[in-house]
Amino acid sequence: MDIAVLGGGAAGLSLVCHLARTGWHGSLVLVDDGAHPAAGRAWAWWSRGDALLDPRAATALSCATVAGPGWRRRMDLSPYAYRVLPGAALDAAAEAALASRAAWRRLWGRATTVVPDDAGASVTVETDAGPVEVRARWVLDSVGPGEDRPDTSSLDFLGLRLRAREPVFDHGAVTLMDFRTGQDDGVAFMYVLPVSAREALVERTVFSAPGASPDHAPHLAQYIGEIGAAAAVETGREHGRIPLLARAPTRAEGAVVPIGARAGLVRESTGYGFARIQRHSAALARALAGGEDPAGAAPARRWARALDASLMRLIRDDPDGAREVLGALLRRNPPERILAFLDEDASPLAQARLFASLPEFARATLVTRLRGAGARRR
Ligand SMILES: Cc1cc2nc3c(=O)[nH]c(=O)nc-3n(C[C@H](O)[C@H](O)[C@H](O)COP(=O)(O)OP(=O)(O)OC[C@H]3O[C@@H](n4cnc5c(N)ncnc54)[C@H](O)[C@@H]3O)c2cc1C
Repeated sequence: MDIAVLGGGAAGLSLVCHLARTGWHGSLVLVDDGAHPAAGRAWAWWSRGDALLDPRAATALSCATVAGPGWRRRMDLSPYAYRVLPGAALDAAAEAALASRAAWRRLWGRATTVVPDDAGASVTVETDAGPVEVRARWVLDSVGPGEDRPDTSSLDFLGLRLRAREPVFDHGAVTLMDFRTGQDDGVAFMYVLPVSAREALVERTVFSAPGASPDHAPHLAQYIGEIGAAAAVETGREHGRIPLLARAPTRAEGAVVPIGARAGLVRESTGYGFARIQRHSAALARALAGGEDPAGAAPARRWARALDASLMRLIRDDPDGAREVLGALLRRNPPERILAFLDEDASPLAQARLFASLPEFARATLVTRLRGAGARRR
């Protein structure tokens, strides 16, 4: 076997799609335990419309709203759009890619061990029919079999799906961050993803300490009343925690190359990872198709990680200061610069301009914390 992809979530499914586009014709197996079917999931991100999976998105909104106490801004996002890809659409794209090659297949089962050696790696997969040994030249691993999962800080959210009789939602714009919600349990913001003027997902998210369980319900009820949707009917709810990496991302070990969240692609300060997963998948596919070591496709994220680390420390130690930094960032910059920055795609000049837009206090705080982060790494 040339390639074993461990985990059929965002990273595994995306990689299969990107590999199919390169025209690479080696053999591949995609291993997934079926515990989190893609069909029940969805990923949101912003992009310019030219990436492989952009056209598969079910939603593409060209405006976004951001707000805080005493201010509100509705922004035209072009050239970006805010997209939502249903997991079923990603799964169908990967299924079509798998079906397009005779030597590509899925294997349903739980990967329990991965052992690298001189010629590749061996993976043990527990299937319904018993254990299966897969030998592969490269293992692209979003799973980390046997790894412990420490309780980390997280973005904890509760979302309610609402249906109203009246057109109460702004169906042309996603509300990305609205800080007008109770802040007693941490830095918290509201998110509203409209499906139509009468239907939306209204979500509250908190940067949450390990072990904490924020009580979102009363805050959600209050916000829903404030946006004029108190009479809306709840049609569903989803609670989730996006773990924020407590340690450096896993490094490649010989033939075993981390992908997805394990590769550190989920940005701590936003919880978004899908756009970075797409760029990494495209780079991995190019490397594999070109016969190169896929470990070299990992994006350089030192600066972004230092920035995230300092923002996270600010959020933990000085929540008021963090809200001021985030508010200034969102209020004082053109949308394209904000989105490129959050996506780690901003030029050095754009980043300098963004820093210059922050209040003096915020700049000084971030610089101090960035220096601290640098000193700790040395
Ligand atoms: C609740 C939640 C919502 C998120 N929403 C967004 C979003 O909207 N936009 C965004 O940009 N980012 C989002 N993220 C962050 C990030 O993009 C996602 O976590 C993303 O799914 C990470 O991709 P992944 O492939 O690493 O992991 P996953 O997508 O979780 O895929 C891992 C797969 O491996 C399988 N698996 C696990 N263990 C084994 C095993 N031992 N053997 C075989 N298979 C196994 C799992 O069942 C799963 O199918 C979200 C994160 C969470 C937790």
